[in-house]
Amino acid sequence: MSETDRLYRFLFEGLGIRGNLVHLDASWRAVQSTHPYPQPVRDLLGEALAAVTLLSATLKIEGSLILQAQGSGPLRTLVAQANQASQVRGLARWEGEVPSEGPLSARFGSGHLALSIAQRDGTPYQGIVPLDGPDLTAAIERYFRDSEQLPTRLWLSANASRAAGLLIQHLPSQPLLAEDWERIAILAATLTTHELTEQRAADLLYRLFNEETVRLFEPEPIAFRCGCSRQRIEDTLKLLGADEVDAILAEEGAVEVTCEFCNRRYRLDVIDAKQLFTGQPRHDPSPSQH
Ligand SMILES: [Zn+2]
Repeated sequence: MSETDRLYRFLFEGLGIRGNLVHLDASWRAVQSTHPYPQPVRDLLGEALAAVTLLSATLKIEGSLILQAQGSGPLRTLVAQANQASQVRGLARWEGEVPSEGPLSARFGSGHLALSIAQRDGTPYQGIVPLDGPDLTAAIERYFRDSEQLPTRLWLSANASRAAGLLIQHLPSQPLLAEDWERIAILAATLTTHELTEQRAADLLYRLFNEETVRLFEPEPIAFRCGCSRQRIEDTLKLLGADEVDAILAEEGAVEVTCEFCNRRYRLDVIDAKQLFTGQPRHDPSPSQH
């Protein structure tokens, strides 16, 4: 069985603690192939992608989890998204030189990290924490401490070929003993970045937790998928409004939109663009009376 692009869920039997381990390989390289990211930007984007995959696997939602970091510094935007079908996408925007070392503030300036859930039924949920501390892990752990009061620890690492992460979290439905949590966290913290990106999942979990009773579930495949479509682009243009679209047509002769997540290009000529605003308004059938 393939050992790439996999999410591994595991459980510490009887302790009320769960874990996730993720390896992103082809999916991560697909994200990188859309833009020539400098190494410091690339590694943070990989970490964000691993984090959002780990976190989305802890949620029971129909929809997707979006991690968005926004700052005033050289690294402007980091977006990573994972949905319930284990499909991921992400992008980063930067300006000038982004340092590879130093606290988050050296890279992002002042900014914030938002975790939002986009549900199929449209109910948005968003939690926000400041982007300070040494790294992305610290900012995310702070989010869980401040917003969720859910004991959560994360380890993240990324290079050109793999983005990887480990998460341990209190299983909310079960009681948790502080001493169990501390012991597991101390064991997990012996993890090195090399082990995280290079070691096989089963070997890694054995190395860290061989004195614990760990139940490892069947791994789940992860894939890159953007999810953009002509329909979504058209919906966005409709929101922009007829005047705005007319202005683009007058200037460019057509509307061209490139999806930043996958570089796919969508082109609407004058007729396509005009039709966006001339379609009959939709009338939903009135609800039947009982
Ligand atoms: Zn796309």
